[in-house]
Amino acid sequence: MNDFAYYKATDIDGAVNAAAGPKNNYIGGGTNLIDLWKYDLAHPEKLVDLNGIDELKEITELPDGGLRLGALVTNNATAYHPIVQERYPLLSRTILAGATPQIRNAATNGGNLLQRTRCYYFYDSSSPCNKRVPGSGCPAREGHNRLHAILGYSDACIATMPSDMCVALAALEAVVRVKGPEGERCIPFIEFHRLPGEQPEKDNTLREDELILSVDLPARGFAGHHTYLKLRDRHSYAFALVSVAMGYELDGEGNISVARIALGGVAHKPWRVPAAEELLVGKSPTEDQFARAAEAILEGASGFEHNTFKIDLAHRAILRAGAMAHDPSTQRPGAKPSL
Ligand code: SF4
Repeated sequence: MNDFAYYKATDIDGAVNAAAGPKNNYIGGGTNLIDLWKYDLAHPEKLVDLNGIDELKEITELPDGGLRLGALVTNNATAYHPIVQERYPLLSRTILAGATPQIRNAATNGGNLLQRTRCYYFYDSSSPCNKRVPGSGCPAREGHNRLHAILGYSDACIATMPSDMCVALAALEAVVRVKGPEGERCIPFIEFHRLPGEQPEKDNTLREDELILSVDLPARGFAGHHTYLKLRDRHSYAFALVSVAMGYELDGEGNISVARIALGGVAHKPWRVPAAEELLVGKSPTEDQFARAAEAILEGASGFEHNTFKIDLAHRAILRAGAMAHDPSTQRPGAKPSL
């Protein structure tokens, strides 16, 4: 392990000032950073510990009816918060589909957004990897690519974003509030993570030294009709092969008035296609309508040797999620959804 300096911040401005510099890292729960460090993939010269900033540990209601999730609130505290359970059950369900209780007790909301891909080659420091060493190559294209992308990838990188929570936050149209040396700004969630393009080393649109303050949820939480369907190789402690976060509202006629669908496990960021969601507006929530939306969401999808199955899996997952969301009470383990 390399030597490093340690600074325990007690306020936001102090943290931002202390973090100035390319090799300085904020640390909250550390559940991914310490892994990266142990794998010789991260080499911070200074750690700015955020755990002394009480302001980042709060969940507060917003005047517009939304909810502010502090960046330092743990994933479990968020999932089990009574307002999240009542008004944003999609988010609660999604968080609880990820990791383990022990990890969720330490992992923070801000850190969840910043976790890095689980591409096997990224974690193997003896392997080339454009995300770790720009220009060195991407062995995943011809190698083991079961977990990899079918949408939005580039010649440089085909990695996927591993978070579950972020898939629900994309569907809920959350906003990420950040502060850096140049002040505070808000980033719409779907613009927070980026596609790999020619710069796969950049996972998101945070500027240097910016600190995530909170994730703000809008008032609409899709408490009536929602689901998170996560398909993976084993039932717990596994990353998604494909996941679907879906929420919709019905009008008085039983037709969909607004719909949001985000996919996980298929791209370098949560995958949303607003035009596909619009196809559902005014339609009844039937399998045929979700099939049309699925076609639009997956337009242009293509796979590699070991992951082409994800295209059909994602299509069928969207149909099933549509049925599950219609009656969230059917989402008990083993329950069979129907429309
Ligand atoms: Fe590296 Fe991305 Fe290729 Fe994986 S997919 S080896 S992270 S460049």
